[in-house]
This record gives sequence, C-alpha cells and structure tokens, in this order.
Amino acid sequence: MSSNRTHAKILGLISEDTSSWVVAALVFSAGAMLTALLALANVEVYQRQLRQRFELLAAERVSRIQDRLEGQIRRLDGLRRFFVYSDDVSEEEFNGFAHPLLILTQAYSWAPRLADAERAQFERQARDGGHADYSVRELKGDSGLAVASVRPVYFPVRFTQSRSTVPLPLGFDVNSESVRRTTLERALRSGGMAASPRMELVGLESENRQGVLLVTPVFLRAHAGIAEPGALKGFLMAVISLRKMMTEGLPPIEQDNLALTLQDITLAQEPEALYQSDAAPVDSDLLITKTLNFAGRSYQLQVRPTAVFVGANPSSNDSVVILGALLSFMLSALLYVLISQRQRAIRLVEQRTLQLRQREQQLRSAHSQLSNVLDATTQVAIIATDLNGVITTFNIGAEKMLGYDSADVCGILTLRQLHLPSELAQHVCELSQRYGRPVETCDAMLVEAVEEHSHQANDWTFVRHDGSHLRVNMQVSPVLDEHNQWVGYLAVCVDITERKRVEEELRTMSVTDALTGLYNRRYFQERLQTEMLRVERHGGTFAVVMLDIDHFKCINDQLGHAVGDHVLQAICQRLCHRLRRSDVFCRLGGEEFMVLCPDTDGDQAYALAAELWAALRAEPVDGVGRVTASFGIASWREGEGGDALLLRADSGVYAAKMGGRDRIEPELP
Ligand code: GH3
Ligand code: MG
Ligand code: MG
Repeated sequence: MSSNRTHAKILGLISEDTSSWVVAALVFSAGAMLTALLALANVEVYQRQLRQRFELLAAERVSRIQDRLEGQIRRLDGLRRFFVYSDDVSEEEFNGFAHPLLILTQAYSWAPRLADAERAQFERQARDGGHADYSVRELKGDSGLAVASVRPVYFPVRFTQSRSTVPLPLGFDVNSESVRRTTLERALRSGGMAASPRMELVGLESENRQGVLLVTPVFLRAHAGIAEPGALKGFLMAVISLRKMMTEGLPPIEQDNLALTLQDITLAQEPEALYQSDAAPVDSDLLITKTLNFAGRSYQLQVRPTAVFVGANPSSNDSVVILGALLSFMLSALLYVLISQRQRAIRLVEQRTLQLRQREQQLRSAHSQLSNVLDATTQVAIIATDLNGVITTFNIGAEKMLGYDSADVCGILTLRQLHLPSELAQHVCELSQRYGRPVETCDAMLVEAVEEHSHQANDWTFVRHDGSHLRVNMQVSPVLDEHNQWVGYLAVCVDITERKRVEEELRTMSVTDALTGLYNRRYFQERLQTEMLRVERHGGTFAVVMLDIDHFKCINDQLGHAVGDHVLQAICQRLCHRLRRSDVFCRLGGEEFMVLCPDTDGDQAYALAAELWAALRAEPVDGVGRVTASFGIASWREGEGGDALLLRADSGVYAAKMGGRDRIEPELP
C-alpha cells in the first residue's frame, strides 16, 4: 500500500506528495506564460487589422480629396469652354453658368484683358451695368482695395459669382499683385490651368481666406489653344478656400477618425503648409502619404489616425490578458482544491486503515480469547446462530453433548433441527396462544428472547446425532452488533439430564407409597382433580372404587406387623393384575385403597369392584389365609365436588362394613 502511494502520480505527472501550493503555482505560471504568448499574438493580429482598416479609410479619404481637386479643374475648364464658345458673355450668363459650379469653390471670377486705353470706357460700362462704384482697383498694403495705378494692361475682375457674404472684389486687377501675376503668367505660358501658391484671398470671410487661386486663360476662339498675348480675352479664376475644400461634407472634428495635412511641395526646399486638420493625430506609426498634382503644383497629402479611429477599434488584448489570468487562476485554484482534497482523503484513508487494522487486531485477539473460552467451556453447549437460525458457532461443549462435529453443523444446520420436533410443535402452539399470532417453528425457541426481552431459560429436548434425547436448559439471547442491530442469537445450553432424573425420582417418591409401590393419597388427589377437569371440559365420566381390608388389625395383632405389611403387598399385587392400564391404583393410607377409573360409569365400577372382591376371595395369602375387604363405589355426577364423591365412596365402604364386611356396597344415591 505504501509503495503504491509513493509511485502514485496526479495526472501521471505530479507526485502526490508534491505540495498543492507548488502545483497551483506551477499551473498559474504556465497559464500566465500562455496568456502572454496569446496576448503577443493578439497584438500582432490587432496591429495588422488596424493598419488594414486605416489604409482603407485613408485611401478613401485621399481619393475623395483627389476627386475634389480634379473637380475644381473640371468645373473651371467647363466655364472656360463656355467663354471660348460664347462671343460675348454677359454678367447674367456668367452668373447663370457659374452659380451651379459653386461646389467646394468659394467663387468664380472673370477678369478680362484690359488695355489702359480702354480703362475708362470699361469702367463706365461696368457702372452702367449696375455696379455704381465700379473702378479698376488694386491692393494697397493693409488698407484693402483702392483705385489702381496706371499700367499698360489690367486684368480687373468683371464678373464674380461667390458664396461669400462679404463685398465682392469687383474691379480688382489680378495683375496688380505679384503672386497672382506670376500665376497668370504661368497659366498663360502653359495655355492651361495654373494654381497659385497659398495666399490670402480677397472678398471672402476671414475663416475661408487662406486658399489658392486656380486660373485659366481664355483665348479668342480663332486662337484657341495658342498662347499668344494678343489672342487672350482674359482669365477665369476659381477661388478655392483650402479649409472649405478639405472639410466640407466630411465628418465633424469630434467624429473624424482621420487627421489630414496638405503641403505644397512644388518647391522641394520650401514646402508650404496648406491645410492641417483641427483633429489632432494620435501618436502612431500609421501614416499614408500621397502626392497629388494640381494644376502645375505638387501637393503632399498626409493622413494619420485620430483618437476617434483608435477608440472605434479597441484592442481586445486587455480582455485576453484578464481572461487568461482569470482562467489560470481558476485552474490553479481548482487544482489546488483537488490535490489538497485528494491528499486529505489519502491521509484519512491511511488513518482509517490504521484504525481498522488496530481494530481488526483487537477483534482477532478478542475472537481468539472467545474461542478459547468457548472451547474451554466443555460442560456448556454454546451455539450462536444468524437471524435465520443457521448455526454459526458450535463450541466443544456442544460437540460433546450432541455428538456432532462443529464442521458438520456450522452453516448447515439450524438450531431448530437439533430440537425434538414434537416438543417444538407443542411449544409453537403454546406460544401462538400466548402472543395471539402464529409463531413459526423456526422462531419457537428464539421468539421469547425477542418478544419478552428476557433471558429466561427454558427446558428443551435436543436430539443427539445418534438419535438419543438430551434434556437441556437453554437460554437464548439476541446478539447485537456495534450499532445495536440484531445480527443473530446466542443459545447457552446446560445438560439437565441428571437434574431431570433426580427431579423425576423425587417426584415419583413424593407420589408413591413406599410399602406397596402404589400411588399415594397426594397423587390420588391430583389425579382426581385432573380427571374432574377433563370430564367437565370435554365430557365423559369416571368412577372410584374404594376398599378397606377387613379386620386387618387382627392380622397385625395375631401375626405381627411385618406379616401385616406382607399382606398389604400381596393384596396390592393381586389386585394390580385385575386393573386396566388407565386405572390409577392408590393407597390412601393404612389398609384403605382407592382405584380411580377413567371413562367408567357406576355399573362398570361395580363390575370392577366385584372382580377385585372375587380376586381377593379366590386365593388366600400365604401364612395368613383368606383376606377380604369391603368395597364402596362412587361414579362422577355433574356438578358434584371431589369431596362429595369421596364421601359417597367412603360411605359405601362404611355401609359394607356395617352390612357384615366382605362385600360390595352398591353405589349410594
Ligand atoms: P375393620 O374390619 O373394621 O376394618 O377392622 P380393622 O381392624 O381392619 O380396622 P382398624 O381401623 O381398627 O385397624 C386398622 C389397623 O391397621 C390398625 C393398624 O395398626 C393397622 N395398620 C395400619 N397401617 C399398617 C401398616 O402399614 N402395616 C401394618 N402391618 N399394619 C397397619
Ligand atoms: Mg380395616
Ligand atoms: Mg381401615
């Protein structure tokens, strides 16, 4: 057992002796390591997914910005073609065409080429056209627009269609300011679109003022496509607020998941910031950079994620770590509980085994002592049975008394089988009457011990192995286990053959007349009572015949007392031969005798008396001669007591004496 325990392993790995704390700590560490590995793997997956999502969103945003820039070019080109194919565009036509194009563009303006010689007439026409204070103007420092100085050629804004709410810069000579002039020149040189660097726009609200000017020259139709100053009709301009173009129609700052930066990198050495999102980018390596070409300028668009993006794509790593730690803890706690419980159980089993071994040892020793006692008790039969009466113990005393070998009895015979069947059946009857219920034969010798909780001993007759009978006094008591439950019976039997013999002897002596060997008066009285009970219960009849020897005193006196005794013995023998087996012949005392005759009526009693009388007279007693007697008869009458019956018999004898002796007095009424 102990070697088994030494080699026993939990889950085939851990020795059972290992502390449950150690196992729990090992499992928790393994769980923590596994969790860390999982968390690392999860971080990688998360980063990859985050990058993919960001790239998708950023590509969509870049594409949208690109569309917007291309849209600016498309729309301005549309306006240009309108001018090219129209001979003379009125202000109304301009407004009608340009107004729907004001998408993501703050204003469209038309600045025709104006030679100085035409200035006055041009201004007059414009004033006549509804712009009362129209004049060709130019920027004068911070004071805004003022009447322009004289120059050979002007490009004053003649028509303008704007989304702005501030006064329109009508008459502003675009050619008057260097940055704008350079842009016009670039457009003229290329014959196509030209975008200005970032500049302070005029005629717009302050928040939209930072932007670029997209210009395109409009040539006379005959010279379309030829960059010749003489064919130039003027310039069309799209006024673009960078903030509006970059933010309009896009999510508000607090919901925008991307932060954008737009830089003009046309001059690589001096990149110029055009726009920066109000939403701050988060510190991350996620970045998309895209170079966009816009009417001769190179823009670099950078897209970064904002806190909104990060918030919308939370990492599940915390959950993995918490779950992993929790699972590891639970597993280690479970193992701790299981192992400590198992160790406790093993300790308990060891303890119990030890106790059981000690108990077994005690029981063995007690059993051996008991066996010795049982075997030493050779004068007493000790028989133990189970609850069914099957014999389980049969000591040497029992073997000696009953002539059986213990091995032939234990587990084979029941206690009942050792009893005399007739006696047992009679006892069963008595017990059934006593308890008012049927008693099984097998319970007959045990039921008293159970019902009456008594240890009263009863006399029984056993049948020995050789068939002879053995009278025993048997005391039966229940055998209880440690839980006070009945597990069987213990019968202790003492051989009472000798006692019974002595009892019988004493009994015989007490009812026997020593001289004649007949029953004495006491016995007669007992039998008389029994007989009276019998006839009273079951009916029938009986009678008594009484006789008294005549002149017996004379025999004594003449021949001596010894002869008298001999006469008494001789007469008794002679009369005995004449009696039935059922007749009870008693000597009442002296020379008076009584015969109790069952199932006999008065006539039959008389006949018996006559027979006895004749027997006496028939043969003389040796040395004495003929001896006679006087007879009285009484047969039982219903309701008559024993004394009255005897008195009638006695009276009969007395009457016979009085009548002369040696006769039978018929039954008196
Ligand atoms: P009766 O005809 O009237 O009966 O006269 P009886 O002499 O027989 O009667 P009685 O009663 O006068 O005498 C009985 C005698 O029997 C007296 C007694 O000594 C004698 N007797 C009584 N018991 C015994 C006994 O055991 N042995 C002997 N030998 N004599 C006995
Ligand atoms: Mg007499
Ligand atoms: Mg007498």
